[in-house]
Amino acid sequence: MNEFGLILEYFTWPIKDPSVTIGVGDDAAVFSLEKGYQVVTTTDTLTEGIHFSANTSAKDIAQKSLAVNLSDVAAMGAKPKYFTLAISLPKIDKSWLKEFSDSLRHLSEQYEVSLVGGDTTNGPLSITITMIGTIESSKALTRSGARPGDGVYVSGTIGDAGFCFWKLTNGIVPSSYELKRLNCPIPRVELGLALKNLASACIDVSDGLEQDLSHILKSSSVGAIIEVEKIPVSEALHIHIEDTNDWTIPLCGGDDYELCFTIPEGNKELFKKVLEPCNVNITRIGVVTESLGLQIEGFDGPRSSYQHF
Ligand code: ADP
Ligand code: MG
Repeated sequence: MNEFGLILEYFTWPIKDPSVTIGVGDDAAVFSLEKGYQVVTTTDTLTEGIHFSANTSAKDIAQKSLAVNLSDVAAMGAKPKYFTLAISLPKIDKSWLKEFSDSLRHLSEQYEVSLVGGDTTNGPLSITITMIGTIESSKALTRSGARPGDGVYVSGTIGDAGFCFWKLTNGIVPSSYELKRLNCPIPRVELGLALKNLASACIDVSDGLEQDLSHILKSSSVGAIIEVEKIPVSEALHIHIEDTNDWTIPLCGGDDYELCFTIPEGNKELFKKVLEPCNVNITRIGVVTESLGLQIEGFDGPRSSYQHF
């Protein structure tokens, strides 16, 4: 099997979205945009040994590669529509490719995103997905809109992926729930779309809550006070925190892909109406302040969030 046979077999499937005129197979993809919409685009790379271990399944690698990109588009309040896949493979392993391709196709159909092109090369295992989404002009949810008095919120539970990673590195067997949270994060696409008309700023929690919330604060030229006791954590992580008196995992653990956002206080009815259908818990963990910096009440132990360099 050569490169072109591989692309045909594993990365070409019928595209249902009529806005795609040309998908995989030409020199570049072509799709149409609706009038009054802007393009939102993001790229993330997952490399073996850095973003996932050598024993991660092809199914989980495909899921996570797509999910982390969907999550970035979700954090902008946009609708993900198209993606490209640049994949570097150490060899042609048909059963690995079948599992990867089936998983990628399944998740892409679930989120209604079309694979429109990519690149296939030989090298250490690495996956780069570029996601393209759309949003009504000037509606994009940025990091820079938080204002003093806004509430600070997070979706879901925080620290599950970090707790899983901590267990793995300490020779403790994680629960299947924790493994799922680390390897197959759920991108909060529906929530991002709902927040578009409600939130003043938003980010996805990929590097750790403290660091990611700090990005919002810096971009918005504001500060915030959050209380550690209010951060929603799983029961198992809560027990670990009570035992160790250490909030490092929920504050600094990355890879949760929940959304952290700010909302002007006031309209509780609108808040309920917009967020309830999203089927994910939303928790208020603090408030935006005029004085700069992030103040964390309830924990001041040493800690640091993930950085590549
Ligand atoms: P080019 O030589 O013009 O870069 P390629 O030979 O790399 O084209 O790719 C041929 C076609 O297959 C292009 O349409 C490209 O977008 C698509 N393609 C290549 N690799 C992938 C992949 N991993 N997933 C989806 N489409 C791919
Ligand atoms: Mg190419």
